[in-house]
Amino acid sequence: MRLLLILSLPFLAWASWDGSAEAQGIPAKPHGRMEQMRPDDLEEVLKRAPAAFVPLGTFEHHGFHLPVCFDGIKAHALCIKVSEKTGGAVLPTFFYGTGGGHIGYKWTNIVAEEQIVPLLSGTLDFLARQGFRVIVLLTGHYPGEQTRMVKRLVQEAGQRHPQVKFLGLAEPEITTPLPGDKSSGDHAAKYETSIALALHPDWVRLDKLVEGRDPDGITLPETPRKEGTPYDPRHPLYAIHGQDPRTAASRETGEKLVQEIVRRLARLVEEALQSPAPAAAR
Ligand SMILES: [Zn+2]
Repeated sequence: MRLLLILSLPFLAWASWDGSAEAQGIPAKPHGRMEQMRPDDLEEVLKRAPAAFVPLGTFEHHGFHLPVCFDGIKAHALCIKVSEKTGGAVLPTFFYGTGGGHIGYKWTNIVAEEQIVPLLSGTLDFLARQGFRVIVLLTGHYPGEQTRMVKRLVQEAGQRHPQVKFLGLAEPEITTPLPGDKSSGDHAAKYETSIALALHPDWVRLDKLVEGRDPDGITLPETPRKEGTPYDPRHPLYAIHGQDPRTAASRETGEKLVQEIVRRLARLVEEALQSPAPAAAR
């Protein structure tokens, strides 16, 4: 027994560091990645924490230092962290998004809204029919076209399923800009890179931000080019919009942002789970 306790100590130390419900001795509500859960696991989620999370992203050049599907993998990682607090099922990431300033960039696939909406609204209907009471659409890709689509999708789904609370948002809506900044949203710059450093440092390769790449090798004929700006493929900050991540991003900043996102979204989900009023106010 003593041996077992000693062997458990490193785990306990790790567990208390991670701040999860399990770490604090609170039995975790059932949660998981939906594609890996069996029907009985999902029924348990419906009984004890009927929340579903749909992470949204897109294929989009995120500078040479971040993965091209960063928006989606970021949203998925954040949904997993929230579900560890609230319980719930996290769906596979939906990697098709609309809008933004990178249309024509290589490794970018921006899709027309009318191609996306039927599948997403069908997914919301499917989740409502299974018995989820709170359904979250978290988009890591957040140009105006995408956020307006998300708001409209949840509003219309709320009218079809008044027994369900739908929440649709992007993470800058639940983060506080750092002193001196107007917004906590950007594209592959200070904020997104900091979040990446906090979620998964291996995703970030700041050493890849070098100048002088051959434009012909990294663009398509339709790719916009503008010398001396981040639209210039030779520029080290190509495709990045916001503050230079090499100097402005940090893991510490990212950890503050991630903590705030997880705390605030978990609270929204828990409040919604506790008060199953019609979704009209959303
Ligand atoms: Zn992004």
